Amino acid sequence: MTTTRFAPSPTGYIHIGNLRTALMNYLIARKAGGTFILRIDDTDPERSKEEYVDAIKRDLEWLGLHWDRVERQSQRLDRYAEAADRLREMGRFYEAFETPTELDLKRKKKQLNMGKPPVYDRAALALSEAEKDALRAERGQGVWRFKLDHERIEWPDGILGDISIDAASVSDPVLIKADGQVLYTLASVVDDTEMGVTNVVRGSDHVTNTATQIQIIRALGGTVPQFAHHSLLTGPQGEALSKRLGVLALRDLRERGVQPMALLSLMARLGSSDPVELRTEMSELIDGFDITRFGSAPTKFDVEDLFPLTAHYLQGLPLSAVRDHVAALGVPDDLAEPFWLMARDNITTLADLRGWWELCRDGADPLIADEDRAFIAEAMGLLPDGPFDVDTWSTWTAAVKDATGRKGKGLFMPLRKAVTGRERGPEMAALMPLLQVVRARA
Ligand code: GLU
Repeated sequence: MTTTRFAPSPTGYIHIGNLRTALMNYLIARKAGGTFILRIDDTDPERSKEEYVDAIKRDLEWLGLHWDRVERQSQRLDRYAEAADRLREMGRFYEAFETPTELDLKRKKKQLNMGKPPVYDRAALALSEAEKDALRAERGQGVWRFKLDHERIEWPDGILGDISIDAASVSDPVLIKADGQVLYTLASVVDDTEMGVTNVVRGSDHVTNTATQIQIIRALGGTVPQFAHHSLLTGPQGEALSKRLGVLALRDLRERGVQPMALLSLMARLGSSDPVELRTEMSELIDGFDITRFGSAPTKFDVEDLFPLTAHYLQGLPLSAVRDHVAALGVPDDLAEPFWLMARDNITTLADLRGWWELCRDGADPLIADEDRAFIAEAMGLLPDGPFDVDTWSTWTAAVKDATGRKGKGLFMPLRKAVTGRERGPEMAALMPLLQVVRARA
């Protein structure tokens, strides 16, 4: 049974980079008819906030990435303590007492003097019980490190291909902090094993974690899941996104009017060899998803790409999908359909509807070039009395054409500008009846 998880730390709002991870794990589970777990990685009581847990759920719900169950690491601390005891019994766990400053000095010395990777030197392994007692008395509890086996750690990565990492080039990871807090590296392994997680997709910043976690999983007798590490996102010019991710929070994109299916369609394909295509149903995204199509190169992301996709998505929607939104503008029920059909091709996000509704309701200041004044005056004299219907525009412009000899753009554009106050907009044939009906009721 395929089981995946999305495991955010509730220390902030989730952003476009997190979405990529969530979506890939979701699509893998759904495609296989498996289980998708939302796992809240909240072992850090200082930084984890309930407010962020709620916000993460809201964002995923907005996108339609429904989870089968929620797990919280803060409720599983006894499981981690038990795993830690087992590692201790096996002799794979040792207490170390270096201060951060000492560790930093050691790192620098190593790099400068020997040109070696700044790996922890395992000095704590040589401490006698008496020395540990003395250090504990002086500095309090130590941290607990996992003793890596110095071998090559290898796995077939679902995106990166065959990976081989020399364990000797990696520091023994700290799994428990001096204050007793269990760190993610251990908690995640225990969860993945006990929850039967079969596939883990996450960012390539986790590759070294994966190497150490594979050894921990083996030590604890678990089954190593299939790992895949997706590339990290960059800005459109290849610049690092890390600083800008704060403004690429999903809630901000929602507020800017991005439509979920536009966002999901882009993120399910960006960085893969398949083209980005707008999908309107989640089932199409699920069927069309193939993780092996993704490459390891950094993936360029341009937030602006979301807007044409959003516009495209909206153009295909029937009124029923946006009825509440249209009603909230104050559009009467009987005009909702003609209004939506008139406006939907001329909006980027739903927020743009307001402008078209205001045009219908309040009219617009005419936009008339000096050289067109006489022409517009003459044309207005030819405007049919009404009631306007879908033929009014063609009847009127035909009459104006006959009277003035103008045609093409020189005929239509000044009339559009005079009526709507804008150079671009909806089909005039669809707009004219609305303008009249709405204003007659006002
Ligand atoms: N909480 C971790 C993170 O947000 C989860 C990483 C993982 O998927 O294992 O980076």
